[in-house]
Amino acid sequence: MPELPEVETTRRGILRFVRQRTIQSVIVREPRLRWRVPTEFVNAAVGQQVRAIRRRGKYLLFDLELGSIILHLGMSGSLRVMPASSAPLAHDHVDIVLDSGLCLRFNDPRRFGCVLWTTDDPLEHPLLKSLAPEPLSAKFDGTYLARAAARRSVAIKQLIMNSQIVVGVGNIYASEALFHAGIRPRRGAGRLRREEFDALVAAIRTVLRAAIRSGGTTLRDYVNPDGMPGYFRQKLFVYERTGEPCRKCRTPIRHFVQGQRSTYFCPKCQR
Ligand SMILES: [Zn+2]
Repeated sequence: MPELPEVETTRRGILRFVRQRTIQSVIVREPRLRWRVPTEFVNAAVGQQVRAIRRRGKYLLFDLELGSIILHLGMSGSLRVMPASSAPLAHDHVDIVLDSGLCLRFNDPRRFGCVLWTTDDPLEHPLLKSLAPEPLSAKFDGTYLARAAARRSVAIKQLIMNSQIVVGVGNIYASEALFHAGIRPRRGAGRLRREEFDALVAAIRTVLRAAIRSGGTTLRDYVNPDGMPGYFRQKLFVYERTGEPCRKCRTPIRHFVQGQRSTYFCPKCQR
């Protein structure tokens, strides 16, 4: 599933091909995505210039002169820049054709993604309005996380993966960040010390930034089949490393299932 770093990598990768380009046409081959692709978007977007591409959580916002496209990659979606004339493949549901002769092509085999349209402030859209803070924003700090965790018995890993607390910390990044902060995933969120919240926030930022960096700036490097930025896997410390030696202390990495997700940790480095 594309996670926040992959979405940010996508944004950076497509930006220079799309910004300040005028939309020549919109081709919808399959409107039945998670929500139906609105027909008014097809007409309204044509002839408009793309002013900016923003990201909020895992949503990409294409700001046109009048109105914004709200796009989510869902479970299996991807966006590619290619010649508009290239033949569509299976699951190439939407093309946004630009005046450069290139198009932005949205592919989504499972169709959990969406392409929506709004003429209001997209940040006020019902899907985005109540999103929690961005993990890389100043609002997400140790004080914020400590407050969110106060008196909660939920495990710390589940707290940081809760998109109502902070957006975009998926399973890989939560596991890795807890390792770097030296915190066991199962600890009760409300029982962490103040400095542990600070360390965890710092670790979440570091892990996400590293993932975004290693995602690279070329689209070719975006998402390999398991959904991780190409170069990131070799830098993982615990995720999917069960039984392998910890990169810091050589203790075998352990694994258990938590909230239906696999969790990985080093029994020695994490307390
Ligand atoms: Zn270790």
